[in-house]
Amino acid sequence: MCSSDPGSRLPQPRFLPVSRDEADKLGISIFDIIFVTGDAYVDHPSFATALLGRILWDAGFTVGVIAQPEWRSDRSFSRLGTPRLFFAVSSGNVDSMVNHYTAGLKRRSGDVYSPGGSLKRPDRATIVYTDRIHALFPHIPVVIGGVEASLRRFAHYDYWSDRVRHGILADAPADLLVFGMGERQLLEAARRLSAGEPLERLIDIRGTVFRRGIHDWRGSEHSGHMVIPSFNDVSTSKEAYARAFALHYQEQDPFRGRPVAQEHPKTVLIQNPPALPLSSGELDYLYELPYTRLAHPGYREPVPALEPVAFSITSHRGCFGGCAFCALAHHQGRIIQSRSEDSIVREAERFINMPGFRGVIQDVGGPTANMFGASCDQWTGCGTCPDRACSPGCPNLMLSHTRQINLLRRLRNIPGVKRVFIGSGIRYDLLEADPAPYLEEICAHHVSGHLKVAPEHIVPHVTATMRKPGPGAFDRFISSFEEIQAGKKKRQYLVPYFMSGHPGCTIPDMVAMALYIHDHRLYTEQVQDFTPTPMSLATCMYYTGLDPFTLQPVHIPKGREKQIQRALLHFREHENRSLVQEGLAVASRQDLIGSAPGCLIPASPAITRKWGKKGKE
Ligand code: SF4
Repeated sequence: MCSSDPGSRLPQPRFLPVSRDEADKLGISIFDIIFVTGDAYVDHPSFATALLGRILWDAGFTVGVIAQPEWRSDRSFSRLGTPRLFFAVSSGNVDSMVNHYTAGLKRRSGDVYSPGGSLKRPDRATIVYTDRIHALFPHIPVVIGGVEASLRRFAHYDYWSDRVRHGILADAPADLLVFGMGERQLLEAARRLSAGEPLERLIDIRGTVFRRGIHDWRGSEHSGHMVIPSFNDVSTSKEAYARAFALHYQEQDPFRGRPVAQEHPKTVLIQNPPALPLSSGELDYLYELPYTRLAHPGYREPVPALEPVAFSITSHRGCFGGCAFCALAHHQGRIIQSRSEDSIVREAERFINMPGFRGVIQDVGGPTANMFGASCDQWTGCGTCPDRACSPGCPNLMLSHTRQINLLRRLRNIPGVKRVFIGSGIRYDLLEADPAPYLEEICAHHVSGHLKVAPEHIVPHVTATMRKPGPGAFDRFISSFEEIQAGKKKRQYLVPYFMSGHPGCTIPDMVAMALYIHDHRLYTEQVQDFTPTPMSLATCMYYTGLDPFTLQPVHIPKGREKQIQRALLHFREHENRSLVQEGLAVASRQDLIGSAPGCLIPASPAITRKWGKKGKE
């Protein structure tokens, strides 16, 4: 993945150029690639523009950045000139609709990816930016990528317009869509275009989606493809939508996945198999590029999203958890790709002399912190099993808490490092399958007063629908945690993440969860209402009312029921009283209204109960 022609490349600049002035100072008259992004430009590996831009630069390509263009102005898109190879367009680190609206479809007032938290990107940013660029530069290739493009790559239910939308490449005038993590794809596209290969031949790059004409497609042989139900089918039949989801889902493995095709009214979208996972050495290389970990100095106000991650370290990619409400398996995949300990330690050592570092490493993790180092012999060569999830019950899954413990010890022994935190979530069910004293170690050294975990629910059929560990594992985890706390002068507390309104969850299930929260005196700050984001399994259930793998019906809370479920999660808040009361009536649990110790709400709205910080009365 390193430079193809190191002799010709410019040294890495302190920041990628964002203006003609900065380009001139570097001696660049024409950029090879121009990134257009909905996020502010922050030179940190958690921000895709910085990561991908520096990799391309290291490979000998010059890269300019247009961050948060004023989308109504042509000048915003043309200020860096015409790129020699292509524009790379992304809505930013998150889908623009998720970024702009709450689960209740209320417009958010700020954007943490902008300086000062201001609103600077349009709804459906990928399409808006691409339209604009195509109008201005009709002969220059446009490559789209990032979470918004990646998770809308085929026909998908769009919660914000409450309808099935085309795959984004059928709506946006782009030439290629990069899905998943984009390093390999962008490098290959840049190298091949730079070598003079015509754009039309870039139809075989793993991890990309391209368009084909309908007549051409129908007249060709495509037996090696998984052809999923068409846009017309999935937008008119919920069963077809569910079948399309399940068929596509099964092809998301880089080793055994086949190309997937879906007809749209005017085009056919074809997805190549996912990009191959990065090796440990490749990950080390890209995370050790010379990021400043600062927002571009041209910004007058800080970018809020940077502050909590400025001194965090990515130790691995991928997650085999497969939670139904998360589309990460469609983006990073199930195979864990871990960095070497030496590389992570080197990255931390570089923090010591960086401006703003006060000795605290905010996180060492990935999508799930304690999947670092996990492996399975199947993953290299054959890919993940198509018929079962990777779980602690599988004898082939090798967990590696000891390796992570040793890494954390090395990090906290670096002179100048005072604390090393685990900010990423941990899967507590994995702890039971590995005798390493991981929980003891992180409680002693790597969490502050609160340990965040995500059981999401405590009713077995709901956790099964969510594909989360069941309540038994969470109960055993609480016991282990409390054993560690016993006798401590300064104890720590669990902060569980819970979710309301998930497919499969009923009002009586939420009453059971409220009681659990009450009886265990848990904090409930970290709760959320289910949002049907593009391409997750739970979103497919939400739209179709079906489990796509069995085609059996699933209960879907909507409207008033969803409000009641949400209120039950916050039963301690006085303003939720009438909704909670309504929910208790639906569940025939009016016995939980009153002044007895087990009651959730008092008998009369005039009586207010005081809840302490730990959820105690
Ligand atoms: S053998 Fe087990 S750990 Fe390996 S891919 Fe299959 S289910 Fe996952």
